[in-house]
Amino acid sequence: MKAILAFAPLFARLKGAMLLTLLLSLVTLAAGIGLLGLSGWFLTAAALSTLGSVFNIFAPSAGVRGLSFIRILARYGEKLSGHDMTLRLLSDLRAWLFARLFPLVPLARRFGRGDLVSRLLADVEALDTLFLVALGPISTAVLAGAAMTVVLALLLPGAAVIYAVLFFSAVLLVPVGLVLASRRAGAEVVAAGAALRQAVLDGIDGHQDLVLFGARDAAVASSDTAARRLSAARRRLGRNAALAGAMVQILAGGALVGALLVGFVALEAQQIDGPLLAGLLLAIIASFEASAMLVRSATRLAGAAAAADRLQAIATSAPGIAEPAAALPVPPGGEIRLEAVRFGYDPAHPVIDALSLAIRSGECVAITGPSGAGKSTIAQLLLRLVDPDAGVVRLNGADLRDVAGAELRRRIALMTQDAPVFLDTVRANLRIGRDGADDAALWQVLEAVQLADFVKALPGQLDAIVGEAGRTLSAGQARRICLARTLLSEADVIVFDEPTGGLDFEAESAFLVELPALTRGRTAIVITHAVVPASFDRVLELRAGRIAERAHVPA
Ligand code: ADP
Ligand code: MG
Repeated sequence: MKAILAFAPLFARLKGAMLLTLLLSLVTLAAGIGLLGLSGWFLTAAALSTLGSVFNIFAPSAGVRGLSFIRILARYGEKLSGHDMTLRLLSDLRAWLFARLFPLVPLARRFGRGDLVSRLLADVEALDTLFLVALGPISTAVLAGAAMTVVLALLLPGAAVIYAVLFFSAVLLVPVGLVLASRRAGAEVVAAGAALRQAVLDGIDGHQDLVLFGARDAAVASSDTAARRLSAARRRLGRNAALAGAMVQILAGGALVGALLVGFVALEAQQIDGPLLAGLLLAIIASFEASAMLVRSATRLAGAAAAADRLQAIATSAPGIAEPAAALPVPPGGEIRLEAVRFGYDPAHPVIDALSLAIRSGECVAITGPSGAGKSTIAQLLLRLVDPDAGVVRLNGADLRDVAGAELRRRIALMTQDAPVFLDTVRANLRIGRDGADDAALWQVLEAVQLADFVKALPGQLDAIVGEAGRTLSAGQARRICLARTLLSEADVIVFDEPTGGLDFEAESAFLVELPALTRGRTAIVITHAVVPASFDRVLELRAGRIAERAHVPA
């Protein structure tokens, strides 16, 4: 529950909309109570009055019609403002979450993909409807119950206490009990939902391999287990909710019978007349309408608490990389220096150790070495996705730890073998490299990476949609789109980590041969396992975390 309170500022921003929704739902409920009460009084009075002509039928029936009308309008307005508020809360929550997710690179390593999807969808949804299904109805019920108690205290004092005790048990004790009893099941629903999503995503991603290796049954069994867990937890929640619903009905019945008994005594003593008593009894029934909704709300509240916990876990996890307290400016140029750098994902087992290297501004250098030597780790250090355990990484003399993140990303760009092509237009895919680049710049870079003819032939050209994960492109074209995007950036240093992954030998050679010319004027650090063409300035070979050899490329 405490985690939910942490979201109070997001809710507070929508105070006005919340109050309006609350007011409208109060009006709806009050009109409902008034409607039933008035009708009860009116029908009883009409039946009791032997002389129909004496009884004024017009005022009450106008009242009934008026109240129905108010009720319809208020309910409509309540839905409108409630859902509008929920959607605004949804966008606030998403913005809040994304603002906290971005500094947590690399995300996938810290949270599973299915788990992350779960947090982004289900958990956010559990919270955004919190007001609509829980806080709103509870407040409405409490206010309406208090008003009804006051009315009873004035008109049928003996019944007021009975009503208050039973009504507030129904709208407060039962829901609180339900939330407490459902906490474990609620958390389990959230966790099992995440596990199921993960299992399904894994199954879809790995479908081909799972089938080819005959591992399909195991994958099906694992999603089956998750689905079973989920439905068992849902069943427990459902059972609790049904029990709570029954208790609310019993309490409502008790309040009615209690008021009836007190009412009979008052009627006999002529402290109240029949029609008024009938009206009050029906109003009591109507007021319990507010409590029916609460059982559902309480079930949601149990899930919302777990969801809030999970979202807070993201919000409060420390960014992997700290921004400098006082950022230092970086002199212009693209000179890179590693000085006695040691780093290990587990510091006790360094991946690279005492590594020093210097790359001059404008150089095009290849880094080669066996798999697992630590090449990608160097790229991570250069991009400051990790910090060295010892030693310094410098850009033009500035320690990367003293450089503001935004400045660093402006100065050093990265292209990896799995750089994504997004399901979007060619233009949008390229502009990731440089926000707002004009079409002339886009065509120029497409020309440079030899994609211009291909894009010209696409329907819509720069506006053509290239598929998710670049599925409408060949592997070579997808790599070139990513290359174009990277070149478009104004970075002084471009790091390529296996940029030719997934390309055949010929495409790979062509790609690498062109690279030095394309990056001319900037520093290019190309991590590759391929044969390095003579157009590169230098080749550094990394072995077991050290530069073992400086081979100049034979001319
Ligand atoms: P290369 O790119 O040269 O193939 P890497 O730099 O990716 O090598 O990896 C170097 C070593 O660090 C390997 O032994 C690898 O298992 C380990 N490693 C890489 N990434 C991680 C990680 N995220 N967590 C733990 N160990 C890692
Ligand atoms: Mg690698």
